[in-house]
Amino acid sequence: MRHLIEPTDLSSAELDEILTLALDIIANREKYSEVCKGKKLATLFYEPSTRTRLSFTSAMMELGGNVLGFSDANSSSVSKGETVADTTKVINCFADIIAMRHPVEGAPLVSALNSRTPVINAGDGSHAHPTQTLTDLLTIKRELGRTDNLTIGFCGDLKFGRTVHSLIKALSKFKNINVVLIAPEELRLPGYMKQEVCDKLGVPYREVKSLEEVIGDLDVLYMTRVQKERFLDEEEYERVKDCFVLTADKLRDAKPEMRILHPLPRVNEIATDVDADPRAAYFRQVENGKFVRMALILKLLEWAQQPERDRALISGDVIKGEHICSNPKCISNTEAHAVESMLRPSADGNGLRCVYCEHRPAK
Ligand SMILES: [Zn+2]
Repeated sequence: MRHLIEPTDLSSAELDEILTLALDIIANREKYSEVCKGKKLATLFYEPSTRTRLSFTSAMMELGGNVLGFSDANSSSVSKGETVADTTKVINCFADIIAMRHPVEGAPLVSALNSRTPVINAGDGSHAHPTQTLTDLLTIKRELGRTDNLTIGFCGDLKFGRTVHSLIKALSKFKNINVVLIAPEELRLPGYMKQEVCDKLGVPYREVKSLEEVIGDLDVLYMTRVQKERFLDEEEYERVKDCFVLTADKLRDAKPEMRILHPLPRVNEIATDVDADPRAAYFRQVENGKFVRMALILKLLEWAQQPERDRALISGDVIKGEHICSNPKCISNTEAHAVESMLRPSADGNGLRCVYCEHRPAK
């Protein structure tokens, strides 16, 4: 059985297959309007995320399928303490595919390990949100006609922004990608991302301190929110915040074909006077999210019938049950009675990492 738990679960050929199918769906909507007739998608949302849930729901409906599920853990048996593994086995009796959103990191992986149907991670804590990454890739492909040969600027919170980390990892699978990191000192891309992803996978990057100095070089500008709470010093926030706000004025130096992406919701990092500019792609990006989820649902249902597509969910040398994960929001801690801890050597050769959430073990 194939699942989508992290963006790296897909090979570059498979990523391409999904993006190509999404483009065909966009061009031939009628052709796909009944392909999932009789199939059911379960949306298991343990925390509210209306936007993502509606995107999945609308995707399945446009394929002619049905949707069931819950949008709040309090209204389900979860409030009675049922484990993710048990809930999954119950839902398997009702639905052909699962989309799970969970505040606990690693919950969708545990679901997949116990599931007879494909499981899609619709976001687990601050760990991963792979369908956002697919959305970003489809938007770049649709807007620019390519996912190779790109200079991409990431602006704002590069430290905590998981959408940024996932997209950089996914881009490492494409050719001739240059990354420009535009962030205040406090919110720079973490060192492990630079080493494990940029250096190891060969994605050249440079770091700059303001949008103005690089905007003319970019093919894509990926904006994220800079939250005041992330700064220790409020004065520092006030001093730097405007360097990371996009205004119509700053766009004057940008290429005419540059595209602006944002995972939304925005607060004030993109001025509303940018919205009317044809380079602003962030609302089109939302619609692409629906199309790419349609393609993903179709592919996973198709691959479920093809044993040759199977791949182990957890590969490599794993140490079971010996260490406790340092992350209190990891499923190996929140469901310690039901989920065995698992660690594997980290990609940078520097100690061990939790299989569920990628944190280090507790000392
Ligand atoms: Zn963990």
